[in-house]
Amino acid sequence: MTKIPDIIIAIDGYSATGKSTLAKSIARQFGFTYLDSGAMYRAITLLCLERDLIKEGVIDEAALRHILATEGLDINFREESRTYVADRCIEREIRSMEVSSFVSPVAALAFVRAFVDDKLHDAGRRGRVVMDGRDIGTAVFPDAQLKIFVTASPQVRAQRRFDELKAKGQEIPMEEVLANLKERDYIDSHRETNPLRQAVDAFVLDNSSLTMEEELVWVQGLIQGRFQIYQ
Ligand code: C5P
Repeated sequence: MTKIPDIIIAIDGYSATGKSTLAKSIARQFGFTYLDSGAMYRAITLLCLERDLIKEGVIDEAALRHILATEGLDINFREESRTYVADRCIEREIRSMEVSSFVSPVAALAFVRAFVDDKLHDAGRRGRVVMDGRDIGTAVFPDAQLKIFVTASPQVRAQRRFDELKAKGQEIPMEEVLANLKERDYIDSHRETNPLRQAVDAFVLDNSSLTMEEELVWVQGLIQGRFQIYQ
């Protein structure tokens, strides 16, 4: 395993660009901890749905704020970053189309972002962390020592998400998958609090036609060059 310094690696980008697959591979390759910030927003969205806090598309912000402030939400990751709330595994539920269709409005709420940021800051303090999301390199860890901004064409992204959902037994029409990605990208990059932006010091990776092996080679080269690691 290549030894690299105790840094934070921030990976941001649009929906379904393969950020989490890349982040997991980096974590394995370098012995880092992987943290999926999107899963946290998804867990809060699942909470909203299960507590009936979204009626006709409108989020009961006061109730959600109250629950997060009084009960909190014990989001944790186990077994290769499967998402749990306390001891309940919610990995399958948070990847559903229903959660995907409400997560961006929930994630646009400033108090929700503050709640998630606290958890991310706690985890980041220990270093040797790779996080993926929309605002990691710009807002959560603006001093991250390595920032990567991932892009891919909308068609490639929609196909990847379609295949992922299909593999999990969810047959969602391609147009619906594509529309959801576009809608989330729009909300994520136009919200008031910490919108999705490419950090000025981020390295851009367009992985439309790259395999995971090729991506890893690219990242490895980047890390070795940046931290002058020669083996
Ligand atoms: O990464 P993933 O697609 O699972 O993220 C789900 C949603 O969570 C995104 O569409 C976005 O609305 C929100 N998100 C965010 N900031 C992050 C990570 C995710 O707003 N750092």
